[in-house]
Amino acid sequence: MHLARFPRARFAHLPTPLEPMPRLSEALGGPRLFVKRDDCTGLAGGGNKTRKLEFLLGAALEAGADTLVTQGAVQSNHVRQTAAAAARFGLKCEVILEERVPTNAVDYTASGNVLLDRLLGAKLRNVAAGSDMNAALESVAEEVRAAGGKPYVIPGGGSNPIGALGYVDCAIELVAQANAQGLVIDRIVTATGSAGTHAGLVAGLALIGADIPVLGIGVRAPKETQEANVHKLAVQTAALLGHEERVTREMTVADCDYVGAGYGLVDEAVIDGLKLVARTEALLLDPVYTGKAMKGLIALSRAGAFKDETVVFLHTGGAQGLFGYHSVLEGHLA
Ligand SMILES: *Cc1c(COP(=O)(O)O)cnc(C)c1O
Repeated sequence: MHLARFPRARFAHLPTPLEPMPRLSEALGGPRLFVKRDDCTGLAGGGNKTRKLEFLLGAALEAGADTLVTQGAVQSNHVRQTAAAAARFGLKCEVILEERVPTNAVDYTASGNVLLDRLLGAKLRNVAAGSDMNAALESVAEEVRAAGGKPYVIPGGGSNPIGALGYVDCAIELVAQANAQGLVIDRIVTATGSAGTHAGLVAGLALIGADIPVLGIGVRAPKETQEANVHKLAVQTAALLGHEERVTREMTVADCDYVGAGYGLVDEAVIDGLKLVARTEALLLDPVYTGKAMKGLIALSRAGAFKDETVVFLHTGGAQGLFGYHSVLEGHLA
């Protein structure tokens, strides 16, 4: 496997730190927890989409694009990072925001990531929940073409085989760090949504033969759907690298029991997790992804699921979204 064969724009701050979480480990009574700080990738607040965007921008620039077109939920971290990447390379950025979370709270609709998208110069348009987002992407791309522009369409979450190469790279980086530190990793835990992060990790770990299981904690879809999506993308990503036979179905495991009432909807256990991690490790998680993944990690740890393991939690970023949830968090911060 040789990632340098793929076009790549360079803007992420890499490698991201791999750090112990001793106070959180102690608070939970084990396992031994570490955090991979992909919240520190550096692009206008950073997060996991930045690694994917290095490869997606590589492809877009090679294709001669002048406009990035993408989509996400209103408080999408992917959209913020795409808007930032566009600004960094002097490209225009056309965004379709799906009103997926049922709220009219002004912090949700205007603060957090939305404020930053606008500051970064992206052009936003909203569509109703349940809209056909792929069709919407294609129609905006057509609009750009009709106006003489050259669009490059990035799917939601940057989750296609090209974007997932960013998490193949993360798998290589993480294992190299662990080897250098003499740290044996028993398991990696990550939030899993549009699937590119989880799939890239699975493909990367399989291709380097690391034998480290990945547990994805779902934020939206039920388990069967999520695992099928991740597996499909992991195989496609490994195929892009010439080795699809190395990714087996058993490598993809998702636990979707912590979604709660739905995507982007926060419950008491999520808020408790946000507070616990902030107050033990001074780490800022987000309400939609890492907060849900941490809710799962906490519950599973307390149930003894990881006993004597060393577990790496992938911090995929998203703290900018906290400001979109002020009214939800208010009253729970004591
Ligand atoms: C997008 C996102 C995820 C999920 O990653 P996918 O590749 O979409 O599965 C997790 N955490 C944060 C903060 C995100 O923005």
